[in-house]
Amino acid sequence: MPPSKNNWLEKLLNFGISEGSANNLNYKQVVNLALALLCVTDAGMMLVFALQQAFWVVGFYAIFMVISLFGFYLHSRHYFSLVKLIVPFSTIVQIVVTSLYFFGPGSDFHWLFVTVAAYAFTAFRPDEKIMRYGVVLLSVMLFTACEIFPLEGVHMSNADQGLTAVLTFLWTLFTLAVVINVVIARLRKVNDYLRVLAEKDELTGLANRRKVLANAVTMYTEAMYYHQPCVFAILDLDHFKRINDTFGHDAGDLVLSEISGVMQSCLNKGDAIGRYGGEEFVAIMGNTTLTEAQQKMDSLREAVENTYITTEKGIVIPVTVSIGLAAISSQTKRYEDVLALADTALYQAKKAGRNRVIAQHPTF
Ligand code: GH3
Ligand code: MG
Ligand code: MG
Repeated sequence: MPPSKNNWLEKLLNFGISEGSANNLNYKQVVNLALALLCVTDAGMMLVFALQQAFWVVGFYAIFMVISLFGFYLHSRHYFSLVKLIVPFSTIVQIVVTSLYFFGPGSDFHWLFVTVAAYAFTAFRPDEKIMRYGVVLLSVMLFTACEIFPLEGVHMSNADQGLTAVLTFLWTLFTLAVVINVVIARLRKVNDYLRVLAEKDELTGLANRRKVLANAVTMYTEAMYYHQPCVFAILDLDHFKRINDTFGHDAGDLVLSEISGVMQSCLNKGDAIGRYGGEEFVAIMGNTTLTEAQQKMDSLREAVENTYITTEKGIVIPVTVSIGLAAISSQTKRYEDVLALADTALYQAKKAGRNRVIAQHPTF
């Protein structure tokens, strides 16, 4: 699934990620996000300490900012595993030094270890147990150390430490919210993509058997409930085996995909069509009488007959389709009964010479 690149956040998240890395895209996006958040944090720190004219501390954060920027560079050179390791350790060093030496115990700056633990769970795969739990354990130990052995803050008054505690809380909250959002957005995208894969026939682009039968159930139930007419059709390409044998299997595939487009274009928006199997298709026309469906299917049959499919070698393949139709009635018990009636009608269309539409009327 190609990463969409429609806004700056997407561009940032997908920086250095090549197409085809769908499997660990989520992990890579989290690492990019962590690098970006580190850059922002370091820039903020540099500003704070520059205002206090503590330029050697500014230099300290400048070094880590360069490390984060270098991380982006390494990511673009596909050293993902290395970047993934640099991020937590760079963050840990910064939190410990900032908490113990620069801000002091009352700043609660070490609560940012929560974000390191969140990183460990979102950037390392479940099978990378040592890194995952190692980073979490280290974070817990260092957090405890910051709690137990607080040094006096060198650069901060008690009032400023109180303010920093609030800012630390807000920054931790923001970081977690962004990470959760990125992970959930990604999962949602993957879910949508998998749903399309699970419902679509690859060759023709139409709904697959599972999806069209699911549509059949829904449309059948609705029609029965609202007492509306509904017609099922089974469409089968004529002498398709002969097409394969004469023009080759690839030409057969081309016919299937082109004819599918033609058939779909002959249906209305509310109708459903899908590949039932091989060269057989099912269409369901809701709120349509048998006569209307017969007319629509005859236009479709004509459209297929008038479609000239040309192979790469310039050979024109003639194609026709036979169609069996059946409408639901008040006595219908299951949608499968309607489908079976349509199949009987299709059999009759084949027997009567193919390239025709036959409607099966209920026998009761
Ligand atoms: P009829 O007019 O009675 O329907 O004859 P037919 O030849 O169309 O029917 P038959 O069931 O004998 O043959 C269907 C053929 O469709 C056989 C199978 O090889 C071919 N087929 C099924 N799926 C595909 C596919 O995905 N691609 C191609 N190229 N051929 C397929
Ligand atoms: Mg056939
Ligand atoms: Mg068939």
